[in-house]
Amino acid sequence: MAGLTPHPWIETLDVYEGGKSKADGATKVVKLSSNETPFGPSPKAIAAYQDAATTLHRYPDATAAELRAAIGALHGHDPKQIVCGLGSDEILKLAVRAYAGPGDEVLFSRHSFAMYPIAAMGVGATPVEVPDRELTADVDAILEHVSDRTRVIFVANPNNPTGTYLPKSEVERLMAGLPDNVLLVLDAAYDEYADAPDYMAPDYLVPSYPNLLVTRTFSKIYGIAALRLGWGYGQPELISILDRSRDPFNLPTTTQQAGIAAILDQDWIAMSKAHNRRWRDWLNVELTALGLTVVPSQANFILIRFPETAAPDGQGSNRMAEGANAFLLRHGYILRWLPKQGLGDCLRLTIGLEDDNRAVVDLIKRFLQGERA
Ligand code: PMP
Repeated sequence: MAGLTPHPWIETLDVYEGGKSKADGATKVVKLSSNETPFGPSPKAIAAYQDAATTLHRYPDATAAELRAAIGALHGHDPKQIVCGLGSDEILKLAVRAYAGPGDEVLFSRHSFAMYPIAAMGVGATPVEVPDRELTADVDAILEHVSDRTRVIFVANPNNPTGTYLPKSEVERLMAGLPDNVLLVLDAAYDEYADAPDYMAPDYLVPSYPNLLVTRTFSKIYGIAALRLGWGYGQPELISILDRSRDPFNLPTTTQQAGIAAILDQDWIAMSKAHNRRWRDWLNVELTALGLTVVPSQANFILIRFPETAAPDGQGSNRMAEGANAFLLRHGYILRWLPKQGLGDCLRLTIGLEDDNRAVVDLIKRFLQGERA
């Protein structure tokens, strides 16, 4: 007997690496590596979560009706056009599972969300990485890479890990240029933080395109990453396909109830957004003044580019970003160094509370002045 044989694409699957949450040796640890909100969820969401604990012996509402109604009311969407998932990750996976398989291609930009290739490979499809331009999705390049085998395209807007975005006109050009048998997943996980005048939440395109899925999450500005709640919005036929392929009880009652309370507290969201805008601008100015390059961001994090110098022995390069990452870690600040995403000269910093933003800038300054311990 040869024993169990997994599908070859499952056997070789990469495991998604989340942001670190421990800093060895440091007494105070501040996690700024996973784009979580520094405020946590609305206190009303925490109260709703606790209340839901009294019904733990009951199965959750398999249709998440109340939650979909709350989301629909906020966004002006028909709840029939909303599917909820265990994080938006589940929605991304449902989309590839429904429309792609072995022999099909799934497209996404270079320097985009690390889950896209994992989702593609999870169903045996071929991940195709499309070159980007100035760390931003390149609509022409994406359209050029569409082949007869392309089934799904992922575009994060604003994008993780770069914070860059596509303006409304470019999203429209992309959507209009796609064949109708290719599903475009517009991943709007950071939508609430975007405020560029030419950015637009893509939902308004859904009525015109049966092959568009917009995804969103409660893990960022809504602050309930631990409860895993995301959702997708599309035309009823598309949503019904995704809905049929999810687990019936995919969302615990605690998650549904906390999500409803979170969405009802829009003052909390406005406060978080204003804080983010203020400190994103501040960090930009302060870090640029230190001689670093900050990639303009529309999200709740910024990508900081450090200069690279040739190593003293002439072998490869001296990765200043790696050293800065280690220095910050020793002082309890966890950022994200991204060599695997081809960004070994960059650190991604999630925008934190005022004192932590100030502390990070101070530490980077000390590091640049030569301090190493
Ligand atoms: N899309 C993007 C672009 C993300 O950055 C993330 C989280 N890092 C997600 C989707 C997934 O979020 P969740 O599954 O927590 O909803």
